[in-house]
Amino acid sequence: MLLDGKAISNKIKEDLTKRVKNYLVKPCLAVIQIGNNEVSNIYVKSKEKACNQIGIYFIHVKFEEDVSEQEVINKIIELNNDSYVNGILLQLPLPKKFNQYKLLNLISKTKDVDGLTDINMGLLFKNHNNLVPCTPLGIVNLLKEYNIDMVGKHAVIIGRSNLVGKPLAMLLLQEDATVTVCHSKTNNLKEITKQADILISAVGQKNLVTKDMVKENAVIIDVGMNRVDGKLYGDVDFENVKDIVSYITPVPGGVGPMTVAMLLSNVVKNYEKNQ
Ligand code: NAP
Repeated sequence: MLLDGKAISNKIKEDLTKRVKNYLVKPCLAVIQIGNNEVSNIYVKSKEKACNQIGIYFIHVKFEEDVSEQEVINKIIELNNDSYVNGILLQLPLPKKFNQYKLLNLISKTKDVDGLTDINMGLLFKNHNNLVPCTPLGIVNLLKEYNIDMVGKHAVIIGRSNLVGKPLAMLLLQEDATVTVCHSKTNNLKEITKQADILISAVGQKNLVTKDMVKENAVIIDVGMNRVDGKLYGDVDFENVKDIVSYITPVPGGVGPMTVAMLLSNVVKNYEKNQ
């Protein structure tokens, strides 16, 4: 069965739209982009469209690649101090010369709607969730929407990034799953993935997960986004895997729309918290 992230995200967006309609002053998201990365342009546009759709005011701060670090710092501080702004997002990846770690951590923990600052990540690791990264949050919400039981289940995550793999491991632990995290140095990947009741791939490699790596009736979450010849693919060999598993996310239409919905949800929840 397909885990229809698009349909669930539409439901979430409808709910957010209704809530935002009641507010005289609209919630506001500011996105800071440095440079002109083509993929980032697409992602920023889709965030802007989603914000417009539900009534969130969208500020797009776009710097040229030759902007000084100090100018970016000044802008982050300005947005931190602007009481009208409820969420600040630094569009990644940054051009190489910028210190992503430093800039991300300048964002106030109360406006860090991507949940990527050390403080919000630390809170997540201690089960005191504040703002949680959108992709892992979207995955767990998708599983919950389909009433997929996580308690005691073996969840295997391929990928250990700060953006997806690590925070997802924490969220799944909070749901009482037993979690294994794999990465590029993992030995015998297939032996581990075959044990997964829930298998999540967040690598960025087309056809990494093949039929022989998957247990029958497992739940498959495909986070990967791989553009090949203008077409979008996940990490999973969808056509050959789909018939032996119980649930699977499509790419596109699975995790991607859930990520955007969680971003909107983080902005609106943050706004409501401060009313
Ligand atoms: P990342 O930072 O590049 O991390 C990739 C992870 O995959 C690393 O931990 C790496 O291991 C591991 N890896 C690489 N090759 C491997 C292999 N052959 N076997 C096992 N593990 C391997 O990427 P990311 O930011 O987490 O994103 C991962 C994918 O998800 C990308 O395709 C990205 O576009 C997509 N994504 C989608 C969404 C969405 O909303 N759908 C959101 C975020 C990301 P090492 O740590 O050892 O290098």
